[in-house]
Amino acid sequence: MIHLLYSDQFLEHDTGRPHPESARRLLSITKALRGVNWADQIVWHEPESVTQPDTLFWVKQLHDEYYLTKLKQMADGGGGHWDPDTVVSPRSFDVAMLAVQACLAGVDLVLETGEVAFALVRPPGHHAVRSNGMGFCLLGNVAIAAHYALSLAGIQRVAILDWDVHHGNGTEALVDDNPAIFYCSLHQYPAYPGTGKAKFTGKYNNVLNIPMPALQDNITYKAQFDHRVMPRLKEFQPDLLIVSAGYDATEKDPLAGMNLQPEDYKTFSEYCQTLNCPILFALEGGYHLQAIADSVIATLEPFI
Ligand SMILES: [Zn+2]
Repeated sequence: MIHLLYSDQFLEHDTGRPHPESARRLLSITKALRGVNWADQIVWHEPESVTQPDTLFWVKQLHDEYYLTKLKQMADGGGGHWDPDTVVSPRSFDVAMLAVQACLAGVDLVLETGEVAFALVRPPGHHAVRSNGMGFCLLGNVAIAAHYALSLAGIQRVAILDWDVHHGNGTEALVDDNPAIFYCSLHQYPAYPGTGKAKFTGKYNNVLNIPMPALQDNITYKAQFDHRVMPRLKEFQPDLLIVSAGYDATEKDPLAGMNLQPEDYKTFSEYCQTLNCPILFALEGGYHLQAIADSVIATLEPFI
C-alpha cells in the first residue's frame, strides 16, 4: 500500500492569494491522487489520528525556544509577514506543528509497514533554521523527522535526499554536525537562498551539495544520480531515507529555471528504491499546480 499523511488543516496556513506557496498546491495534489487508477492502493492518514511521540519535544530539539515563542505570538496576534517571503497566519504555528507531526508519523509508518509514505504537508521546512523561518518555511520538518528516527530502535543512519530546486540551507544547518545523518541536495545555483556550494561537506563529510546551473534536464540529473548521489547513499547504507520532495525543478515551475518533467521523478524514485531501505517522502516546494500533482503521482508510481 501507499500511505499518505494529509490533513485539511494544512490548508489553513494562509499565505494570502498572490503567494505561490498556497493551499491550492495541496488541493491540486490531493485531487489528482484521488483520481488515479490505483487510488484503491492509497491509505490516507490524518496525522492527528496516528499515535505520536511528543511533537513539541522533537521540535525543541532543533529550534530555539525564543524563536518558537515569537512564532506563536505572531500567529496568536493575527499573523503577519515573518520576512518578505514568509507569511504567518493565525493558524500557522499549529499547522506547522502538525506538518512536523505528519513527518514523525510518516517515519513510524514506513518503519512499521515497510511500505512507502508521503507526507503531503505545508508549510514546507527545508529553509527553516534553528532560530528563524525563511523561504516559506517555518519548522525543519525533515530534519526533525531524521533526528526523531535516530531515537528509534534499529535506526543508526538516516539519509536525506533533497531534490527541491533550492538548496535546503535549513536542513543542512540542522544536521551537518550529526554523523548519523547524511544530507544530499541537488539544486540550482546560483539561486535562492544562495547557499549550497559543493565545497561545503559538513563536519563529518556527511553533506553532499550538488549545485547546478539553470536549464538542466533529466540527462544531467541522471548523471548526478549515477555518479555522485547513489554511490554516496549506498556507501552510507541508511536505515531510512527521507526525501525532501520539492517539485520546483520542473520546466513549468514559475520560481526556478530547471527543465525536469514530472515523469522524471519516477526515475528518481526508482533510484531510491535501489537502496532497499524504508522511504518517506515529505513535500517541500513546487509551485506549478499541474506539474506538482503530476510529479507527486510519478514519484509514487514505482511503489504501486
Ligand atoms: Zn524550492
